[in-house]
Amino acid sequence: MKTIIKGYKYRLYPTDEQKEQINKTFGCCRFIYNHFLAMRIELYKAEQKSLSYSKCSSLLTQLKKEKEWLKEPDKCSLQNSLKDLDTAYQNFFREIKKGNNNQGFPKFKSKRNNNKSYKTNFTNNNIELYFTNNQVKLPKLGWVHCKLHREFTGKILSATISQVPSGKYFVSLNVECKHTQLPKNNNAVGLDLGISDLLITSDDEFIENDKLTYKYEKQLSKLQRQLAKKEKGSKNFHKQKARVARLHEKIANIRKYNLHRISSRIVKENQFIFSEDLNVKGMVKNRNLAKSIHDVSWYELTRQLQYKSDWNGRVYHKVDRYFASSQLCSSCGYKNTETKNLNVRTWICSECGSNHNRDINAAINILNQGLKDLEVIL
Ligand SMILES: [Zn+2]
Repeated sequence: MKTIIKGYKYRLYPTDEQKEQINKTFGCCRFIYNHFLAMRIELYKAEQKSLSYSKCSSLLTQLKKEKEWLKEPDKCSLQNSLKDLDTAYQNFFREIKKGNNNQGFPKFKSKRNNNKSYKTNFTNNNIELYFTNNQVKLPKLGWVHCKLHREFTGKILSATISQVPSGKYFVSLNVECKHTQLPKNNNAVGLDLGISDLLITSDDEFIENDKLTYKYEKQLSKLQRQLAKKEKGSKNFHKQKARVARLHEKIANIRKYNLHRISSRIVKENQFIFSEDLNVKGMVKNRNLAKSIHDVSWYELTRQLQYKSDWNGRVYHKVDRYFASSQLCSSCGYKNTETKNLNVRTWICSECGSNHNRDINAAINILNQGLKDLEVIL
């Protein structure tokens, strides 16, 4: 048994009164975030000084005395908003130190931001679930109607309340629970993250993620074209906008569900999992690849592989991204620089005569490199 932290997400059905309280909290959290971001920027400009989280936190206590309305939302939510700001700062400076300029400076949160959320922490049973009644108790909201489609046993750590662009509300619970690990096995796999396919395995498998959503995407572009013709701000415009948002969410959900299915299977079947350590952000700059990369959701897949491996005592290792996985012959090690051209899909090694599919060859190279890195002999 291993203690893990798992997320459970449920649809919320708040009353009008509860909606008002939730929306007020979104607003207060945004205010706090922006207020302290402005303060930190000012202080840096004037005195080249930075403002720590704990200093912000004590300033928040003072601010609440001045602004009565900041006492209305759950207090943890405001603290968490400060923590988010601090994390955004830390991420920015960590990437700068590494020499990566892609991580942007923390931005002000806009009222028009479509994904609204706030996080609250568990203290003194302020968060509770009533499974048979489909209800969740949340701070400042009381019992909220909720679709509890999955039961769990464990300790609730925190709850994030969110609203998506189509208007639906959700609660995501972080729960500490006991997990029975998968039985150990002796398999290893190399994964090449592809462009036209989501991924290609060293076991000759091509896995894709687009086919499932293809028909919805065609629908989506039709809906978007219709939206463009509507008069902005009109009743029909808003109706159409909601349709677009709902379909967007549907596509995202199908993809995410499919990614979970794929990552669960890979983790179940293999003790050792290897992929390239791609700097996704670096590649997104290349405009031709950008759309495909977003579409195939590499980031999400590698994230899932990582935590599912951790839960189950599997080894997920990323091999160096500068390692020329598509150029080396996986049979003899000859380097074929012609494969730098992405259009070369198949090639014959001029040294040993092996016939290669570009992606499978790369996946086998990743597998071999991973085994070498970890000194694993199967
Ligand atoms: Zn060869």
